[in-house]
Amino acid sequence: MLRRVSIVAVLLVALTCLGSVASADPQSIPNGPWIQPEQEVRKDALTSNEELGKKLRQIEARSKGRLTVEVVGQSATGWPIYLAKFGKPAPGKLGVLIQTQIHGGEPLGTEAALQLIKELAQSGHPQVKEILDRLTIWIIPRLNMDGAAFERDGKLVQRRWNTQRWNPSEWGLPADTPAPWYYRADQDPPGFDINRDFHPDLNFRLSPQSAHLLPGTSTTPGFFVTPEARTSAAVFQRLRPDVFIDLHHRGTNTQSAEDNQMTTLQVVGEVTKGLPEYPLDPEVHKRSLQLNAYVYEVLTKRGQSPFTGITRYPDVELPGTALGSYALNGAAIMLYEVRSAGQKSMGMLIEQMLVGLRATLLGLANGEVFATDPALYYQIPPAGPRIDNPRS
Ligand SMILES: [Zn+2]
Repeated sequence: MLRRVSIVAVLLVALTCLGSVASADPQSIPNGPWIQPEQEVRKDALTSNEELGKKLRQIEARSKGRLTVEVVGQSATGWPIYLAKFGKPAPGKLGVLIQTQIHGGEPLGTEAALQLIKELAQSGHPQVKEILDRLTIWIIPRLNMDGAAFERDGKLVQRRWNTQRWNPSEWGLPADTPAPWYYRADQDPPGFDINRDFHPDLNFRLSPQSAHLLPGTSTTPGFFVTPEARTSAAVFQRLRPDVFIDLHHRGTNTQSAEDNQMTTLQVVGEVTKGLPEYPLDPEVHKRSLQLNAYVYEVLTKRGQSPFTGITRYPDVELPGTALGSYALNGAAIMLYEVRSAGQKSMGMLIEQMLVGLRATLLGLANGEVFATDPALYYQIPPAGPRIDNPRS
């Protein structure tokens, strides 16, 4: 069953997932992605939190034992957080952790993940068998349940942050202790950007001994104050994955100042250079470059839109992101970030995610990913100028 909720054009949020990018003169593309002001985007096809659990249980029941679904944690407001498991950690098998919607307003990764879970659970295709034979794949479909279900005036609007007040007493700290820098007290209700709340020490907990680190900055680790980030880290520690893939949306960019084609996908394999206490393993770094380069190569070889509009995310230093902290814990990482878009592009963007994920899993299973030249990563074109909505 699909949820019948209509909302205003929230998918046009001009938020970037990891950091700011240079802005340029606004451009206007006739018949571009822009939603008319009077046009309402319907989220009919999106899965609600209630439906997410039901769909996962249905797929599990029909999977003949391939898929196990677990509730691994709860959001700040009490929504269950799900984990879809294909296999157990085992010697000789590559561990792959895929996570979606850490930013609640970026829903399409969850939709793609649901389709992927269904395929892995039910398909008889030999490539699916090959993938499941070689990989242990765990998927957290929708980490930020609060942001995904966020409503205003009875309408589903979704938002980037979770729904959680800064509560210093939870950590044995005085009431006037400053909140982590990624707390948004100006939101109603306030919340945290979960994707800044990670720490390379996956067991880090805020305490009077570590409170002097507050509020921190974007280039220092987070504090694991959100139950969502702690849930993700606990899953990571169980699987100890070789590969971590994080699915996001971003604003719209063009390919370059000369090429007005829209960037449909950005990838990144470098999110932190490492910290003195938590260095980045050069081998892990190399594998991150190979992973992203492989996907770039595979998708661009398809040669037709939308798979040619791929660029590299701008350089960032964000050890407090899931990607950053997990890279410092031995996982090759890939940010997979599709363009935010109106209704008419949603199906295309979900399909693009699916094509990329299928190719990635197959390339990991057959060894092609880690046979890729890592230098190819730097041939992925950097992001071009950002497009602003000419109608806003
Ligand atoms: Zn994001």
